[in-house]
Amino acid sequence: MKIPLFSKKQEMAEDPVCHMQVDVSNPPGGTAEHDGVTYYFCGPGCRVAFQKEPEAYLSGEKHVDMGAHGGHHEGHAEGHHESHHGAGGHHSH
Ligand SMILES: [Zn+2]
Repeated sequence: MKIPLFSKKQEMAEDPVCHMQVDVSNPPGGTAEHDGVTYYFCGPGCRVAFQKEPEAYLSGEKHVDMGAHGGHHEGHAEGHHESHHGAGGHHSH
């Protein structure tokens, strides 16, 4: 099967946060480099989340479900205790 020249092969990369496929030539969320590897993001929210805790996302410890973009807090609210959560605790976006 031949691919016409004008139709460039689209390279896709997986967003490490939500695991969406992202067009590497035009990543909606931009890119971030970690440990010499460039990662691509479906949206700025994923990039910011990744940059905060890249290891957590790469190890699979953390992930964001699609559709969670926009304020869904990962995991369940643990009681109603307002504790200082350190990394990744307080973000209201
Ligand atoms: Zn994403």
